[in-house]
Amino acid sequence: MPSTANTSTSQPLQLHRRVVPAAAQGPWTVDAIQALLDKPLMDLLFEAQTVHRQHWPAGDIELATLLSVKTGGCPENCGYCPQAAEFDTGVKAEKLMEVDEVVRAAQAAKDAGATRFCMGAAWRAPKDRDIEKVSALIGAVKGLGLQTCATLGMLESHQAQALKDAGLDYYNHNLDTAPEYYTDVVSTRAYQDRLDTLQHVRSAGISVCCGGIVGMGEAPVHRAGLIAQLANLQPYPESVPINSLVRVPGTPLADSEPVDPFDFVRVIAVARITMPKARVRLSAGRQQMGEAVQALCFMAGANSIFYGDKLLVTGNPDVDADVQLLVKLGLNGHRTTTTETDDLQAHAQPQGACA
Ligand code: SF4
Repeated sequence: MPSTANTSTSQPLQLHRRVVPAAAQGPWTVDAIQALLDKPLMDLLFEAQTVHRQHWPAGDIELATLLSVKTGGCPENCGYCPQAAEFDTGVKAEKLMEVDEVVRAAQAAKDAGATRFCMGAAWRAPKDRDIEKVSALIGAVKGLGLQTCATLGMLESHQAQALKDAGLDYYNHNLDTAPEYYTDVVSTRAYQDRLDTLQHVRSAGISVCCGGIVGMGEAPVHRAGLIAQLANLQPYPESVPINSLVRVPGTPLADSEPVDPFDFVRVIAVARITMPKARVRLSAGRQQMGEAVQALCFMAGANSIFYGDKLLVTGNPDVDADVQLLVKLGLNGHRTTTTETDDLQAHAQPQGACA
C-alpha cells in the first residue's frame, strides 16, 4: 500500500495579500480545489470563515452522539476499520440490537436533549429482512418524536425507499477518499457502488450524510479529489463528516503517517468553501488533535462534532472536556444523536466511515 502522505505545502511569503471570499460554485475541478488547499493558511481560514458566516449562525455547533446497533463481523475490508472481520482488532461480532434496547437508548438520548437518533450497523449491505428489522427500529424511534438517521452499508433502491417509508430522515454512506486512491483502502466494493447507494438514498428523498478520511497515506491531490466528488454531488450532502484517521492496531492502515494538523484544517476549510450549506462534521481523530487544532477547525467552518457517548459509557469524561472546550471558545453546542462507524468511539475504535 503506498504511503506518500505529503503534508505541508510551502508557500512564498506574501504580504498584504487581498483575499476575495469565494462564492460557492460548481462543478468543482480537482485543480480548483487543489488551488484552495494550497493557499496560505490564514487566507484560506479567512475565506472559509467568511463563507461560513454567510450561511450559518456564528458559534453554532451540532453535537452528534453515537450508538451502534450492530457491531463487528463485517465482510468488507476497509483498511481503517476495526469492524472488518478479517482484521485482528479484538472487536467481537454482535447481533442487531432488539427494539426495546434501542428504544431505551433513544429515550435516554431524547431525555438528554437529542433531537435526532441514528442507528449504525456493520453490514456490507443489509438483506431485505435486515431492512425490515431496521424499519421497525426506525418506526419505534420516530414514535418518540426524534429524527432518525442510519448507516447500514450499501443499499438497493427499493431498500432506500423502504427506509424512507419507515420514517428515515438521514442516511450516512461515506466515499472515504478520491476514486484514484480508493483501491488502496478498500478492495471488496467499488467506488461506483458507493455512488450508486448515495443516488438511491437521494432518489428516495432521504437526506445524505457523506464524507471521508484524511491521513490514510493519500497525497494532497487525493484530498482534493475527495472534496471534488462530494461537492459535485447533485445536490451536495446535507452533512459532511471529515475524519482524521485513527490508526487502530490490527488494521492495514495502522502504520500510516500521521496527517499534518494544518493539512487537516485545510481540508475542513475547503469543505466549507465548496459546500457552504452543509454541516461539516469534525469526526474521528478529534481526541488526538488537541484543543488548538480543534479551534482552528471551527474557524475553518466545522460546525458539528462527534460528542462523547453518554448512552454507552456513563460519565464519559470526554463529554466534560468537550463542554469546557466549547465554553472556552464561546461556541454554542446543541445535541443530536447520530451514529456512523464512529459510534465505536465509545469502545475505543474511533474510526468513522462505515458503509
Ligand atoms: S467501514 Fe463499514 S463496511 Fe467497511 S469494514 Fe467497517 S463496518 Fe464494514
